[in-house]
Amino acid sequence: MNKPLKLLLVSTPVGPLGSGLGGGVELTVLNIATILRKRGYEITIVAPETSQLESFSVVEIPGELQILAQTKNRHDPVILPDNSVLTNLWNYAREVADQYDIIVNFAYDWLPLFLTPFFKGKLIHLVSMASLTDVMDRAVQEAIKHCPGSIAFHTHSQAETFGLKAGYFCLSNAIELSEYHFCKEPKNQLAWVGRISPEKGLEDAVIASARTGIPLLIMGKIQDENYWQKIIQNNSQAPIEYLGFLSTEKLQAKLGQCLALVMTHRWIEAFGNVAIEALACGVPVISYRRGGPTEIIRDGVTGWLVEPDNINQLVNAIQKIDKIDRLACRQQAEMEYSLDALGDRIEQWLLESTVNRQQPTFYDQFSRIKTRG
Ligand code: UDP
Repeated sequence: MNKPLKLLLVSTPVGPLGSGLGGGVELTVLNIATILRKRGYEITIVAPETSQLESFSVVEIPGELQILAQTKNRHDPVILPDNSVLTNLWNYAREVADQYDIIVNFAYDWLPLFLTPFFKGKLIHLVSMASLTDVMDRAVQEAIKHCPGSIAFHTHSQAETFGLKAGYFCLSNAIELSEYHFCKEPKNQLAWVGRISPEKGLEDAVIASARTGIPLLIMGKIQDENYWQKIIQNNSQAPIEYLGFLSTEKLQAKLGQCLALVMTHRWIEAFGNVAIEALACGVPVISYRRGGPTEIIRDGVTGWLVEPDNINQLVNAIQKIDKIDRLACRQQAEMEYSLDALGDRIEQWLLESTVNRQQPTFYDQFSRIKTRG
């Protein structure tokens, strides 16, 4: 690229940055902003009120938070609360759009996708979850049709759920590796990390912990209190310990001391930030063979991939975790998931989306026809 670009990053409307409600998106926004600023880009982040993001100042937008997409059914329509923070964020983006070269959307929502052609090729989207509703699938496909290069997914498995095999950019996540310390000698304990919500399938990890007798440390935001209470009631004998929602510093310290990270998601995980965080600490990952983790974990080398929803296989994998070399885990993180690697990937996406922007869109062609007429 010839000159550094001015970028506006529009965060998720499901919660303020720093709250944990945004799940992996919060870390993704931070990491992308960090590496791009380091490379000379001018970065502005806009996010719901009370957001906090380390050394970045955030333009805070008031309004009602958006309902979580993962609570919706496939045929549900789009729902916006009154005075929605989502619409307020995009009103702000519209007002300041002229000051930016590119606007990057991190919200998994219909509205910004629909707005893609209205921003004249400036608006691109990093889609954070797999397909959940028909209305979102169509919005993603339309954005690609009208503005080629405007969509990135974290993994090919995620893209496939939208019925796509091409026409998108694959942008896998990364982390600031210096914040994660390699731990050679773990304690006899397992880790489960994530939002505590049904699609994450925590109960299977709890059962596996009870069956093996190996204590399970649980870290993450309780997003669904009823679901959590039910897990506790149904597994009163399981050796589990809930540590709360931890900062990255504390998270990596606890995670590093574990034999393995267990990922028991029921949905198609778009990526799975927690997998690369574990690898960075030298912690092997045992995961259901479903979604993003299948593209991260090297089966038998940096963890074990097991048949989805099969607790027996989960238990077997836990029992052979000593076959995995913890150093190989850290090395994979260093090779593939450093912020520099992310910087290269995202610059490639920005470049491709800029090149695609030069091509006439339906709207350009339409206006030319109108002018000629
Ligand atoms: N996380 C955290 N503290 C915790 C537990 C989780 O900061 O105690 C973060 C973790 O670092 C990761 C995110 O929560 O970035 C979970 O992201 P992931 O991609 O695994 O799943 P998502 O929530 O996006 O479905």
